[in-house]
Amino acid sequence: MNKQPGTKGLIFNEPQLWEKSRNGRCAISLPCSDVKRSLLDPSLMGDAPELPQLYELDVVRHYTRLSQWNFGVDSGMYPLGSCTMKYNPKTNEVQAARQGFAGAHPLAGEEFSQGALKLMYDLEKALGEITGFPAVTLQPAAGAHGEFAGILMFHAYHAKKGKQRSKIIIPDTAHGTNPASAALCGYESVSVKSGERGILEPEAVAAIMDEDTAGIMITNPNTLGLFEENIREICEIVHAKGGLVYGDGANMNAIMGIVKPGDLGIDALHLNLHKTMSTPHGGGGPGCGSVSVVKELIPFLPVPRIEKQLDTYKFITDCPDSIGRMHTFYGHFGVMVKTWAYILSMGPKGLKDASTLAVLNANYIKESLKGTLNLPYDRPCMHECVFNDKFQQEHHITTMDMAKRLLDYGFHPPTVYFPLVVDAAFMVEPTETESKENIDQFIDAVKAIAAEAMENPELLKKAPLLTKVTRLDEVAAARKPCLRG
Ligand SMILES: *Cc1c(COP(=O)(O)O)cnc(C)c1O
Repeated sequence: MNKQPGTKGLIFNEPQLWEKSRNGRCAISLPCSDVKRSLLDPSLMGDAPELPQLYELDVVRHYTRLSQWNFGVDSGMYPLGSCTMKYNPKTNEVQAARQGFAGAHPLAGEEFSQGALKLMYDLEKALGEITGFPAVTLQPAAGAHGEFAGILMFHAYHAKKGKQRSKIIIPDTAHGTNPASAALCGYESVSVKSGERGILEPEAVAAIMDEDTAGIMITNPNTLGLFEENIREICEIVHAKGGLVYGDGANMNAIMGIVKPGDLGIDALHLNLHKTMSTPHGGGGPGCGSVSVVKELIPFLPVPRIEKQLDTYKFITDCPDSIGRMHTFYGHFGVMVKTWAYILSMGPKGLKDASTLAVLNANYIKESLKGTLNLPYDRPCMHECVFNDKFQQEHHITTMDMAKRLLDYGFHPPTVYFPLVVDAAFMVEPTETESKENIDQFIDAVKAIAAEAMENPELLKKAPLLTKVTRLDEVAAARKPCLRG
């Protein structure tokens, strides 16, 4: 077996900064000033804020130690399915941090922001090309926010047609944000079951699609990591009844440069640029859920839009049918810079290679672990594969026990208990950025854990054993979080 990355860590204890503080300590020493001190009117100043007093080294170690209590893609493989936790090249961070981009002020006005506008304009065009749509908005701040924008546009479209509809069809494999977005727009969600092969059957959609249904939301590849092969036929069924098709593009990492969702009959599609296009996520930081739309939906796009007139880029707000603003100013510009840097550095071939490798890696894991873990849908997958704990149940070992134990072996656990259509799902998305050696180590770790499930189940019940905190009462941890080290 390969040596695992997680053997025994050096995990430091670390008190709060307040506890380390000592009067008079300071991170910098400046020479005495030779300028005469002049005091402001004390009534204008208020009390000085109370801050911990620390040496530079105290501060550096404090944050470095805290960062080591967590697991990040920079410390190890992070096979969280439906999330695309891939490694993002640091150069894209460098580009976003450039003074001209990071220092751009949204109130500077068009005249002084031509570079930023050009970047957003060019990025919209590139994302339109990648997804196969004529127009794109970059305003939404996340995938869920993009869904909200898309369904608001569906709502505005039906309103403009003169008849509002009340329902949206959502497959049972959908991410929870899909029904939530539909509900926010006032729609009732109607669930449609996927068929035996883990994908949608056109007959099931035809049976419930009617003229009171505004449309359907489809994730493709879906959250089982399977390509919705009947997508074209389903789009036709929905369109024939006057409905629209929303594409959840969170899994675009599997199909960049291979499939253009716009060619499949989808009317609006979000991408999670923070998943597919090089912004680290997972900590709730800024994201971007760009939304691509067909021609018929362009009038409803959020304002401001960006247009190019001769050689000048302009913000356009005079769009009477627009759903309005989705974000202050123009959305999360830094994420857009990283996306643009990623697209330019990858090029069309690089993007396609990334998706091809992501799919290859997932299929390699699927085939390698097939006899070790139960595989409910045994067919070629896209960028992720879904197992469960059926083989381990006789030893009373669950998906959760195995996921926790992976931490001891130096891997972040995969997504567990999602999608809901698989009991106790164990969903692995390796992404394209892991090498064969890393993936083999992961496979060996899962096999070793499956062996422990038979030989030493008591140990698995206590895992993780090598992390700073071991098995937590997860409900208590969420309800009564302890934020001290
Ligand atoms: C991540 C994800 C979402 C939600 O995206 P956020 O950017 O987290 O709001 C929606 N659908 C699917 C399939 C996802 O994986």
